[in-house]
Amino acid sequence: MPGAREQADFLNAVCAVDTKLSPEELLTACLAIETKCGRTRTPDSRWESRTLDLDILLYGNISLSSGNLTIPHGRIAGRNFVLVPLAEIRPDLHIPAPIDTSVQYLLNQCPDTGALHLVSSRASLLGDEII
Ligand code: ADP
Ligand code: MG
Repeated sequence: MPGAREQADFLNAVCAVDTKLSPEELLTACLAIETKCGRTRTPDSRWESRTLDLDILLYGNISLSSGNLTIPHGRIAGRNFVLVPLAEIRPDLHIPAPIDTSVQYLLNQCPDTGALHLVSSRASLLGDEII
């Protein structure tokens, strides 16, 4: 049973997309999809389990920080459940300023020791028999 501020297990994945949407438009689209999937936001729900949480980790080589959008995502460097699946698809990807290093380097430095269990990998999704 999870205690206070502890979440139940959750499924995490990273995907790469091509889009004609601007970063702000992409955020609006992500928030709309979250809502469609039943996510409700309240001031207290930030640390609770969510039906769906879509975050924009990176947007090409762009760095930006506006009132409601920060790219690269502000907590990308401290979450191994983000860096592990990101490294699975793009280990050599350069993360722009203010981080300014590769995904793999960031993962090697990541202090997060939270337990991860591999449910599926890119290879298994593609039908390979690696795992
Ligand atoms: P988190 O995903 O950080 O755990 P939330 O999903 O509750 O928390 O997001 C809160 C807000 O973070 C969103 O409403 C959005 O405006 C803002 N935000 C800032 N940068 C990003 C980003 N790169 N991707 C998604 N949301 C972002
Ligand atoms: Mg989010």
